[in-house]
Parts: sequence; C-alpha cells; structure tokens
Amino acid sequence: MNHFNFKNGHLYCENIPVKDIAEKIGTPTYIYSSATINNNLELFDEAFKDYPHLFCYSMKANSNLSILAITAKKGWGIDIVSGGELFRALKAGVDPKKIVYAGVGKTSKELKEAIDADILLINIESEAELEAIDKIGKQSEKEVSVALRINPEIEPETHHNIATGKKGTKFGLSFIRAKEIFLKRANYKNIQIEGLHMHIGSQIVSLKPYEEAVRKMVEFIEELKKEDVPIQWLNIGGGMGITYKEEIPPTPSQLADAILPLIEKTGCKLIIEPGRFIVGNAGILITKVLYTKISEDRNFIIVDAGMNSLVRVALYGAYHEILSEEQKYGTIVADVVGPICENTDFFAKNRELPPFKQGDYLIIMSTGAFSFSMSSNYNSHTRPAEVLIDNSRGYLIKRRESYLDLIQGESISPRLVLPSSLESVDF
Ligand SMILES: *Cc1c(COP(=O)(O)O)cnc(C)c1O
Repeated sequence: MNHFNFKNGHLYCENIPVKDIAEKIGTPTYIYSSATINNNLELFDEAFKDYPHLFCYSMKANSNLSILAITAKKGWGIDIVSGGELFRALKAGVDPKKIVYAGVGKTSKELKEAIDADILLINIESEAELEAIDKIGKQSEKEVSVALRINPEIEPETHHNIATGKKGTKFGLSFIRAKEIFLKRANYKNIQIEGLHMHIGSQIVSLKPYEEAVRKMVEFIEELKKEDVPIQWLNIGGGMGITYKEEIPPTPSQLADAILPLIEKTGCKLIIEPGRFIVGNAGILITKVLYTKISEDRNFIIVDAGMNSLVRVALYGAYHEILSEEQKYGTIVADVVGPICENTDFFAKNRELPPFKQGDYLIIMSTGAFSFSMSSNYNSHTRPAEVLIDNSRGYLIKRRESYLDLIQGESISPRLVLPSSLESVDF
C-alpha cells in the first residue's frame, strides 16, 4: 500500500502536503513514507512467519541511517556489499549477528572489519576470497562463518544490466566449483561454510526464476548431504520487483507459496535480502520546474534535479511516473530534463504530462530505491535533501549539502600555485 495520495487537489505523503516540505526544505528533495516501508516489511514478516528465517534488508537500495533504523526496529538484519555499508549498519545499531556481506571484490581491510565485527555470514564469491578469509581468520584466531554464493545460471527476465544470476556474469561460483570447495573444506582451518547464497537479479516480476533457481539450490543441498556436508542457511537473495508502470510483481506471500514447499525438506533456515521491494515505492523526488522551453519539434520541462540526483533513467532507461504536485487538467507532450551537461540527463521523453508551468513542483515517483543511494555531485551540484514522513510529522534525515561539502577533503598543493614573481605583466 502506498501512502502518496491526492487530497483536495494536492499530493500528500501520509498526512503532510509534499508542497509544504518543498517550501520549507527546498528542492530537489527525496520524501519517504515510513508507513509504506513498515507495510512492506510486514508483508514479508507475515508471509514467512511459519518458517525459520532471517530477513536482511539490502541497504544499497537506500542506505540512509534512519531507513536502516526502521528496518532494524522491525527485527530485520542487513545485507551489505562494502566496508562503508558495514560502518553504516553498525552506526544504525544493527545486530552484527544479523549482517550478511556479499560482493565479488571485498578488500582484505573490509574482510578484516567484517571478521572483527563478528557478522553472521560472509558470502564468498571466489576461491581466492576464501583463501584470503582463511588467512585473516588465522591471524585473528577466529573461525569465520561463510556462505558460498552460487551463480545458478538462470535467466531472470529483467534488464540485462541487473541480471546477476546468469551464466557469464561476474557473480558467484558455479555448482561444480562450489562442490570442489566443499570437498576440500578441511583445508580452510579458520572457515566454517554454513550456507549457500544466490542473488539472481533485480526488479524480477515473475516467480519462475526464483522457483527454477531454488530448485537447483535444493538439489545441490541434497547432493551435499549425501557427502555429509550439512548446510544451515539457504539465502535466496533479493530482487523482488515493484510496480513502476504496469508491472504486476508477485507478493511476498505468493513468493512464500512458491518456494517454501521446495525448501522445507532441506531443513535449512532461510535468508531473504529484499531491497527495492522495501523502499522503492516508499519514496518520491520532488523537484521544481525552472523553465519551460519550446524548440522546433519539442517541449522541454527543465527541472532542478538532474541525473546526479537520480541516475536510473540515464543508466538503465528506467521508467518513473511523473506527477504534478497540484492536480491539473489537460496534458502536454514534453521531455523532462535536468540541468546537467549530458544528453542522457532526462527523466522522460515525449511523455504525455500535466501542463507544467515555471515554478510548479514536479514529482518523480517510485524513487525510494537506487535513487539517493546512486546520487553523485557531478557538475558540482549538491545532492538532494532527504525527508522521512511519519504520519503527521516530518524528519530531515539528510540535510541538503552545502558548497563546502562539495570540496571536503580537497586541497591545493602549494607547488601548484605559481610564485608571484611569475605573474604576467600588462603591456
Ligand atoms: C542488490 C542486492 C540485493 C537486493 O536486490 P533488490 O533488487 O533491491 O531486492 C540483495 N542481495 C544482494 C547480494 C544484492 O547485491
């Protein structure tokens, strides 16, 4: 259920008109609904309540500390992909024993931090990584709990840039390589392989790829059992899709109905790592129309957010619904573009839209996931502020950046500054 609705002709987030937020905080600003996030978390809680499980919110979708605090309060763990994300998770007060760590390129510094923090599982993506962990485990005199990330080689029917469980992608290990590792696990004295992991892609709107992949994983677990290799955890990753336009993704309870009958016989505890599903539809980006411009064959609506604030359209050709904060009658066909000096800096092309005028607030919907977290300072624009709404209250959960933030950590070496004796002379 979404908590972005029109009342008296104006868009509200829960009980607050989004215009009030824009007037107070400025634009561009991300606005999140805590009720929507909680509702999405509860859908998973309810669907899997009868099966032993741990949910780990995948923080790369939206890593603001307040968002993490909401998921942690519901008892959720976190799926991380870097040392920086581990730092955030611990700052937000997440129990380390609920943290799982994936990624093909973890540095030894990052691995050491994860091992020192005693997280639940490191999801291994190569044999070389296993060796690196064994070494650190030995130095730290620890037995490190890991899971092997499997690439189950299935086609998840999503955008090719976000299909991670296909043959030929960099992610995970094949079943054959994983089996070899299990058979020589005794060589890794400081490692305990406790689970299997997969993550087949993102924005998946069909159950079929999950069923297909889980079936393969379960077969593999049964095969390992015959070799006396016990597996405690089966982590099926994230990837559950949301509605951006007309997609009808499966619900958590449909997912449970599809996969639990397959998993039950393994006796494994289940881990699921949804990211987008939890926050995607819980956020919007409010922007202001700076100018409108009519060229020979096109209308342009120029807004104050650009691809530095929201890169999904430029990066994946993603579709985001665009609304006016104030309900309007009639339509125009236009391109919505930002201020960045790139052709790919647009949010819609040739789209039928409300008749926006200069000064209007333009809303980009479904931007709670992979939006702020992928933002940048390109063109030295400051990134959007972030506001969290809880019923009739709003919280500024990330203040707008200042110009000083832009140059933080930079310095001019005195060697680069020409001595004044070399100053040019006017003739
Ligand atoms: C990105 C990612 C997720 C979350 O994916 P969503 O599509 O946001 O649900 C889960 N697990 C891993 C390992 C990931 O890399």
